[in-house]
Amino acid sequence: MSEALLVINSGSSSVKFAAYDVLPDEALVRIAHGQIEGIGSAPRLKVWGSAGTALANQAVSISTDPALGPQEAFAQLFGWLRAHAGGRTLRAVGHRVVHGGEQFAQPTRVTPDVLARLDLLSPLARLHQPHNLAAIRAIAALRPGLPQVACFDTEFHTTQDWVAQAYALPRHLSEAGIKRYGFHGLSYEYIASVLPAHLGDVAANGRVVVAHLGNGASLCALQGRRSVASTMGFTALDGLMMGTRCGSLDPGVVLYLMTGLGMSVQAAEQLLYEQSGLLGVSGVSSDMRTVEASGTPHAQQALALYAWRLRLELGGMAAALGGLDALVFTAGIGENSASLRRRACQDASWLGIELDEAANAAPTHGPRRISTAASRVAAWVIPTDEELMIAQRTQAVLQGAAAQEVGASITA
Ligand code: ADP
Repeated sequence: MSEALLVINSGSSSVKFAAYDVLPDEALVRIAHGQIEGIGSAPRLKVWGSAGTALANQAVSISTDPALGPQEAFAQLFGWLRAHAGGRTLRAVGHRVVHGGEQFAQPTRVTPDVLARLDLLSPLARLHQPHNLAAIRAIAALRPGLPQVACFDTEFHTTQDWVAQAYALPRHLSEAGIKRYGFHGLSYEYIASVLPAHLGDVAANGRVVVAHLGNGASLCALQGRRSVASTMGFTALDGLMMGTRCGSLDPGVVLYLMTGLGMSVQAAEQLLYEQSGLLGVSGVSSDMRTVEASGTPHAQQALALYAWRLRLELGGMAAALGGLDALVFTAGIGENSASLRRRACQDASWLGIELDEAANAAPTHGPRRISTAASRVAAWVIPTDEELMIAQRTQAVLQGAAAQEVGASITA
């Protein structure tokens, strides 16, 4: 009987997923993807079948009980898979887990002990980690014995030198794990894996900055397709301005919020994670499309600040690499906002990027070069595929190749 792999990327109010057919030669073919949106408010399961599969062009939308919690949401998803995945056996579930801390430098099969250790990292990735782990627990309760593998966004950055990861804090704090970890690693790993196919071997292995610009946003400096530096640090709050997160901030501001303005720790945390960034500055939305369409003076300022922060951080990443050979845009904003890319490339003309205006504005999808043939530095758009990366890493753990097995399947 043929087998399938399920990939889960679980957020606060939505769960994205993708299902893959495992072919007899172990190749992975995506058969469907979708999301459960509005958990806790107006839950809907949406599924899109992949082109060329029996499920092609199917889009289902199932409205269910507003009280639907993660476990019921996953029960719906498993029900749908049973009914539509053509009798395949589910081999395992691979999860995106944002923070692996110092202990988890490889994809890891989840056990109760692993789960308990990952819980301890939740305060470092408050927006993501608790939801990532809740999904694992919900599936364990539904399908005890089904192998689950955690794949970490921090893993890709473990190649960085000490100096790129360190803060200038007293040494005992860095020894206690307070250092720059970097995130979006699954996206960067995917982009690094496809760079040679698009840029050619030489440029792909040169000095490349990847701009992952989604609701969360960061830059990664790659040399030889390995992470050398990243704009995110100890938490996913640092670096670029994001949808609702502030990005880099003088730590004195945080102290002042609490000591000068009397804000509680929880209120300050909420402000920096959920009320800042595009949303806070524009007063309109955290969603780039809405901010771009708005046209209010504050929305214009938010766009200007977004581009300014990107300009400065890109300069920093190029400095870390000692120059730049290619810039790659990816994720929701990077792949879709021609105006943001235009602004960013114009701001980076001093680095040697010459934008091909027509290529940038063309309503094309898929990997494409957006710099002119004469441009000294190549600029590209390459859609990311974190789900495929998770599926491949999960498969490798199950095959024992990259395994850091810590016991039997979970029951908690
Ligand atoms: P997540 O980090 O949640 O995975 P995505 O990678 O899906 O986020 O990116 C979401 C962001 O992409 C939102 O700000 C959204 O407005 C933006 N986006 C998506 N499509 C477009 C578009 N056509 N033009 C501008 N921004 C877009």
